[in-house]
Amino acid sequence: MFDSYLGESILGRAIKEKKISVSFVNPRKFVTGKYRKVWPDGNVSLQVDERPYAGGPGMVMMAEPVIKAVESVLKKITNYQLLITKNNSKSQKPKAKSSILIINFIPSAEKFTTSVAKSISKKYTDVILICGRYEGIDARVDKILRTKKYSIGDYVLTGGEIPAMILIDCISRQVDGVLGNFDSREEERVSSSEIYTRPEILIHKGKKHKVPKVLLSGNHKDIESWKNRLK
Ligand code: SAM
Repeated sequence: MFDSYLGESILGRAIKEKKISVSFVNPRKFVTGKYRKVWPDGNVSLQVDERPYAGGPGMVMMAEPVIKAVESVLKKITNYQLLITKNNSKSQKPKAKSSILIINFIPSAEKFTTSVAKSISKKYTDVILICGRYEGIDARVDKILRTKKYSIGDYVLTGGEIPAMILIDCISRQVDGVLGNFDSREEERVSSSEIYTRPEILIHKGKKHKVPKVLLSGNHKDIESWKNRLK
């Protein structure tokens, strides 16, 4: 699901140039006991969901495979950090210690915004995104892993993958070198929700649609206040 989006454009380049890196762990890898069934034809089914206590519709993702999956990521980050510190040994200063944020997605939680993305990119070196499915994940995961919960909007999706892609995209834009310093400074300074490009006059169904005059004026002060009025 992620390959196509992360392989394109700015994010694709950022990953290639190692400005960011994204990896995946499937909680099914950590399914054990009666939830791991081997069928007579050799097929293996790895069940991560169970019926909710006290009834209710649908199934709930069990805590154990999710916690083990996250713990495996935490271990990988720590090992990577140790490796970097060792390789940097005498000649270079060790890189800053990793600071890790674990996020779970809940449709009714605090809204994820660009300002949240900015603060995450400043505070953390690693972000673990837990993608729920079914009716969500056993709530004990949040308590045990001390997750931060975010929603991407007031609607319910089928899974946490699209929310995760949204966070990866938005947070990566705040990482140094992903947009290029010039582009990110320009975005801060002159971004606008209403933008125009060539041609100056667009004729659609016989009607002329012109670019606002102020944008052609060359007067930077007027242009900036025109843009600011939209904010
Ligand atoms: N029963 C849950 C509820 O009412 O809050 C909805 C579960 S939803 C069908 C399955 C998963 O999709 C969630 O665990 C979450 O990971 C993700 N999800 C759905 N809508 C979302 C939203 N608006 N923001 C963030 N995550 C969302």
